[in-house]
Amino acid sequence: MLFKPSTKLLRWLGFIVLLLTVASVSVIQFDGPRQIAVAVLRSQSVSIALSRIQQFMIPANNAACLDELAKLDAVYTAQSGFTEGNQCIVEHAVRLTSASGMAIKNSPVLTCRMASELVKFTENTLQPVADQMFGSRIKAMSHLGTYNCRSMRQYPGIVSQHGFANAIDVAGFTLEDGTEINVADDWKGSSVKAVFLKEIADAGCEGFRVAVSPDSDANHWNHLHWDMGPYWSCR
Ligand SMILES: [Zn+2]
Repeated sequence: MLFKPSTKLLRWLGFIVLLLTVASVSVIQFDGPRQIAVAVLRSQSVSIALSRIQQFMIPANNAACLDELAKLDAVYTAQSGFTEGNQCIVEHAVRLTSASGMAIKNSPVLTCRMASELVKFTENTLQPVADQMFGSRIKAMSHLGTYNCRSMRQYPGIVSQHGFANAIDVAGFTLEDGTEINVADDWKGSSVKAVFLKEIADAGCEGFRVAVSPDSDANHWNHLHWDMGPYWSCR
């Protein structure tokens, strides 16, 4: 009888392969071996295989997710799947226009999984916290992008969750009363806007798989990165 591995087992195997790959690039600090590891990662067949594993491991991004999204307070249009280059794969995606009454500028492409989590996070956290702190709900969210076919900065050759449209870089908010809140201008200090941003950044660690704030590193000085990749990180 043919052995047919379960989806759960395949996900675990994928996770182990990904972990070993990232570990090999992280641990090998000697220039020669590290360059070889990076070259292997950049080779076409390895990079295609790795990105397929990563895409497969996006949790529950499937037809059932689209059914679930239809029941949420969201305005969106369907986005057909596409690929770019050897590595970037977008599947089960939508263009999200509005989440729980909050417009999302430019209706960006997002995986269904990321769109669903963003809608739920807006309803359960962003809107109530804004209402509580400012007495006004959020009218619009601005962002620096969702889909972008590129590698992770620290791991060349491994696709960023942006390459799957499974991430968003949040730049700021406009409230219904006209108040503007920007990560670039308002993160530092102890103003009400700064407290608001820090509160939602902390909450983002619960709402998303990966949440990165300006406190993490210089690359994130002007945005909050949220994604629904296969691993957890809060920084
Ligand atoms: Zn990002």
